[in-house]
Amino acid sequence: MTIKCPDCHKTLGEKCPKCGALALVYVDVPSSVPEIDAPVLVFAKYMAICRNPECDYRFTVGEGGDTSGLCEPCYKQEMARLVCLPSAE
Ligand SMILES: [Zn+2]
Ligand SMILES: [Zn+2]
Repeated sequence: MTIKCPDCHKTLGEKCPKCGALALVYVDVPSSVPEIDAPVLVFAKYMAICRNPECDYRFTVGEGGDTSGLCEPCYKQEMARLVCLPSAE
């Protein structure tokens, strides 16, 4: 799943569509990555490997759709905004 910031629409990375852990993205698949039986065209450009050692799922970037996550600048902005809000009492 591609992590996208809902505020600035930046792409932040990939999450495993299986377990939700962050994944490592490979722009060019190293020929040493074993056990890929998907058609060559599908994984030729962008591949991700789940960082969860118990899952270790390999998938193509974007598999499973999009998910949202704030990037650091937007997160900080959001936090600052929340802190400045008057209490809702
Ligand atoms: Zn952002
Ligand atoms: Zn996983």
